[in-house]
Amino acid sequence: MAKVTPMMQQYFSLKNKYPDSILFFRLGDFYEMFGDDAEEVVQILDIALTSRNKGGGEKTPMAGVPAHSAAPYIAKLINADYKVAICEQIEDADESSGLVERDVVRVITPGTVIEDEILTERKNNYLVALAEINNNYGLSYIDVSTGDYNVTETKNIDEVYDELNRLNPSEIVITKGFNPDNQWERLIKNNDYHISYIEEEIKNQSDKLENDFENILLEHFSINDLEEINLQNMDSAVKSAALILKYINHTQKKSLDHISSISRYFIEEYMVIDSSTRRNLELNQTIIDSRFDGSLLSVLDHTINSMGARLLRKWINQPLLEIEKIEKRQNAVKELLDSFVKRKKLQDSLKGIYDLERILSKISYGSINPRDMDCLRSSLNLIPELKNKLDDFQSVYLIEIKNKLDEIPELLEILNDALVEEPPVSPKEGGLIKSGFNEELDNLREESQEARDWIANLQPKERKRTGIGSLKVGFNKVFGYYIEVTKANLDTVPDDYERKQTLSNSERYIIPELKEKEAQVLGAEDQIHELEYKIFTRLREEANKVLERIKITAKQLATLDVLISLAEVAAENNYICPEVDDGDIITITEGRHPVVEIMDDVDFVPNHSRLDRKNNRFMIITGPNMSGKSTYLRQVALIVLMAQIGSFVPAGAARIGLVDRIFTRVGASDDLSTGQSTFMVEMNEVSNIINNASARSLVILDEVGRGTSTYDGLSLAWAISNYINNPDRIGARTLFATHYHELTVLANKNDGIKNLNVVVTEENNEVKFLHKIEPGSADDSYGIEVAKIAGLPEEIIDQAYLVLNKLENNNGEIDGRDFNRLDDEQLELFGYPENEEKIINEIRELDINNLTPIKALEKLYEFKQDL
Ligand code: ADP
Repeated sequence: MAKVTPMMQQYFSLKNKYPDSILFFRLGDFYEMFGDDAEEVVQILDIALTSRNKGGGEKTPMAGVPAHSAAPYIAKLINADYKVAICEQIEDADESSGLVERDVVRVITPGTVIEDEILTERKNNYLVALAEINNNYGLSYIDVSTGDYNVTETKNIDEVYDELNRLNPSEIVITKGFNPDNQWERLIKNNDYHISYIEEEIKNQSDKLENDFENILLEHFSINDLEEINLQNMDSAVKSAALILKYINHTQKKSLDHISSISRYFIEEYMVIDSSTRRNLELNQTIIDSRFDGSLLSVLDHTINSMGARLLRKWINQPLLEIEKIEKRQNAVKELLDSFVKRKKLQDSLKGIYDLERILSKISYGSINPRDMDCLRSSLNLIPELKNKLDDFQSVYLIEIKNKLDEIPELLEILNDALVEEPPVSPKEGGLIKSGFNEELDNLREESQEARDWIANLQPKERKRTGIGSLKVGFNKVFGYYIEVTKANLDTVPDDYERKQTLSNSERYIIPELKEKEAQVLGAEDQIHELEYKIFTRLREEANKVLERIKITAKQLATLDVLISLAEVAAENNYICPEVDDGDIITITEGRHPVVEIMDDVDFVPNHSRLDRKNNRFMIITGPNMSGKSTYLRQVALIVLMAQIGSFVPAGAARIGLVDRIFTRVGASDDLSTGQSTFMVEMNEVSNIINNASARSLVILDEVGRGTSTYDGLSLAWAISNYINNPDRIGARTLFATHYHELTVLANKNDGIKNLNVVVTEENNEVKFLHKIEPGSADDSYGIEVAKIAGLPEEIIDQAYLVLNKLENNNGEIDGRDFNRLDDEQLELFGYPENEEKIINEIRELDINNLTPIKALEKLYEFKQDL
């Protein structure tokens, strides 16, 4: 093997320790990447690939990025799902003899990012850890950039998946053996979660994964007993929480002070919203093209700060189940809604508040810069004013917020005294500490100023002494300060001038005193920079001492922002305060869909709803396509959900008997990736409802049984309706929109089942959708009218009416011969050439329920060949 240079040896030995990261190897002012790493990333980073002598005449590919502006490059790699190991020179190059010592100081992974350039401001960036012990699943999650750290435990793996769906983590840490029900492998293959194995991270770092999970937590929180963090007897929760800490310590190489508390929660403490319901109700993004605009969050989000935006997202995704907590929020929103002027004043103050949560993590990492510190100071400076503005409010929540807001006077005072207004970003280049704060600094600055003044005075002084009017004092990087005299005046240059440089028209000189002053200026400058940095480090430590207090204040600011946002949206969209109680009645008068009602081209028609657990348990809603059934269903679910987050709701009046879960089964979504047919997906969703819904749940069914033959579908829909409606089985409050008119007879036979339909009128042979829901069943499905509105050619519409007539006269029965006869009656459409007939018959025979998408594609291919 060719001999490798010592530096490259150093590189390869570090790279070996971090095989699954891109190694950023510090070389002077650059981070360099070599070998495979370099080749792999040049395209993503859009940088040039060069090469470097590896030793023994062999070359290795190389690529580099400037160290001072590495963040955007790191961002690109993290977004492309890489980890980046940052390797620094850990001894001063000047002091080292030979090769500078280097080591990896931090591994940046998708879930451990704290850089503003990589993070999304208004969204948390979660790292999740999962663990399993005796079929108990522990799930913990943390946002390293804010310190938000939570843990739970459940026996139900589906709940784990639902939590993952809620959190949308950037990275999941597990141990290699983690594979519940052999499902996990499939899930990670089909999902875009970034999975990290803890073993990978700690191997080569002389650490082992031992079963001392409890100790990891006890040590981190400096406690003696798990009881102090409510985690006694929760082994899998403890393990997952410990895995997160271990992972962070290994990648971040330090213990982080802002991760100062962990919050244990139970999934059942909040309204359970499974993955498909979260998607169907479009809480965070739309179903089609995953846009933010058009989601419930986009409508409710009038927050001013990122902290508020993140908290509102949390609230929306975890509606409450306790009346007291809901009313606490409602009362605050009510008060803020009623006081327009005061609300605006609070908003004005909030505009000056920065993202204190993310500043917290930078303090803890020691990476906070003077600019961030200024943001912290100006935010804290606003607290007294905010507290004043909260003075007149009476509601419990707002009083609590006011009392917990803390400007942290001791920190604020030192920051106000020490830090200049508008400090620079870098803490190492001076200009950040106020004069008057530190005597030594003042003296150094004075000395430096004296020397500068002396230099500034030199020009007039020397002009006078020499009589040379054009004499100049200047500065350049190579020679420092000099005195310049034009050639014409050379004969009057005094003897003490020492010539340094000859230019075409002039000569440059120095005098010993000038060099002395110059040394004073430069020397003082270095000392000043060093001292300012030292003082700044002290400020950092002062801030670190009060991390917990900053955290509490940040939480109050976020909460206030969210409550104001809810008041703002209530004012803007005319929402009312729903009455929330423990009963089982849901009454909504003049309810509206929060998203549809604000669309530009919609003149929204409000509708009433009544659900209870006696006579109005199960609503069957019939009506033509596009008449507003889905909108109505979702509107009820969204109003209930909004009520339980403490928000006001789009209605004239509303009373909401608390709902423990919302289930939705909406439309047909083919899950191609798992190879399941539409009908299978549908039945899985129904099965989830049947197994998990309680009498306190709200069930939304938008078409059931569509993916199979009419009779199968109808029979299933019939039986499912009966089961869900039956109080001895489930008895959940349910809204079911269906195109099976046959189901409407259920209302005659069952207590609790009622029919609703959407009003349609006909004027001059045109149907008109009024979007009004009324009791009773629909007479007609108006399918062909809808097709007409959609612009299908007249020829098709006319023929469709002919067929419909035929069907109606034959009691809905029609067979092949009828089609032939129809054909005779001028419907050419129904006459097929022989080969096509064969294909059609084959399609009739196909067992779609047992057909995978791949097989279906193959079939299609075959058909095409035969045509
Ligand atoms: P369906 O489920 O019956 O097919 P949708 O609920 O999807 O119908 O509604 C179709 C369209 O009708 C919606 O996109 C919306 O623009 C409009 N719409 C629905 N409900 C209303 C309403 N209450 N007021 C006004 N327009 C509505």
